Amino acid sequence: MRSWIKGGLAAIGMVLPLASAWAEPACGNTNPTATALGVSRTIEVDAATGPRFGGKKKEFEILEPGEVILTFDDGPIRAYTRPILNALDAHCTRATFFLVGKMAVSDPTMAKEYLKRGHTVGVHTWSHANLTHLTPLKARHEIELGTSAVAAALGQPPAPFFRFPYLAEPKSMIVHLHERHMATFNIDVDSKDYRFHDPEEVHHKVMHDLAMTGRGIILFHDIQASTARALPELLNDLKAHGYKIVHMIAKEPATTDPAFDDMAKRIISRKHLASAQDSMPRRALTWPTLVTPTDEKPDTKPQRPKQPPAEPEATPSAQPLGWLSKIFQ
Ligand SMILES: [Zn+2]
Repeated sequence: MRSWIKGGLAAIGMVLPLASAWAEPACGNTNPTATALGVSRTIEVDAATGPRFGGKKKEFEILEPGEVILTFDDGPIRAYTRPILNALDAHCTRATFFLVGKMAVSDPTMAKEYLKRGHTVGVHTWSHANLTHLTPLKARHEIELGTSAVAAALGQPPAPFFRFPYLAEPKSMIVHLHERHMATFNIDVDSKDYRFHDPEEVHHKVMHDLAMTGRGIILFHDIQASTARALPELLNDLKAHGYKIVHMIAKEPATTDPAFDDMAKRIISRKHLASAQDSMPRRALTWPTLVTPTDEKPDTKPQRPKQPPAEPEATPSAQPLGWLSKIFQ
């Protein structure tokens, strides 16, 4: 154990309004204060064993009572992503964002902003497909192209952290992610922000469910206006109720497949990307309810497909705490 504190305590001002501008560096010190959540613990995760966190099938409980991990899926969409980042900065706290590859290559500047502000970036497939509705080959393409696309947008590999779209987890892809040394993250608390238009409903849902579970990984979407509007007051309420924020970082970055890297770079350089930038936000906002899984197949095929994965193992990890690299307290 060693201290995560890197500097002196910083006084935290009032919560920034939704549309406030961001000036780098936004929040260099994440010490919790009387008014700011900050980061109470940073956990460095070694994903080499493909550990699974969150949800009913979690292999490990990484949180103490009262601790929460903030996660956001499906982005970026800067109209909502940036206010969400501002709200997190106002509390000098950190989250994990699971990016959709298509979204990331549509706005690489916004994708890089997650990292600039100190957050962790993971992967949420290439096109937000339901992998349980795809063949193993196509499902692997979704994971690999998604990882390469996020890496291309970021200009560096993301964390080896993965979340399944719709939380739909085919066994063959659990094995694939295990072999790819990527950790998977389910959820303990669902904000249902894709269903609620009223930010107060998002706020109430999260606080109610947290009161029941006492801790957990919370799911939001940074493509949802309801979450963008709810987050400033929700973070204030988490602080008022004594919840502590845990930030996850990766021991090592994700590795990418060169064939999919080439594909992602070609996609990012296509001249017709501008039209994709216009269409993706509208599609993304309807994903949770309107897009059928068969609509979400990769629109390109990889040059060098991999062999089918092996059968699932009975015991996913021989070393119970092999995923835990360090805990900074
Ligand atoms: Zn999603």
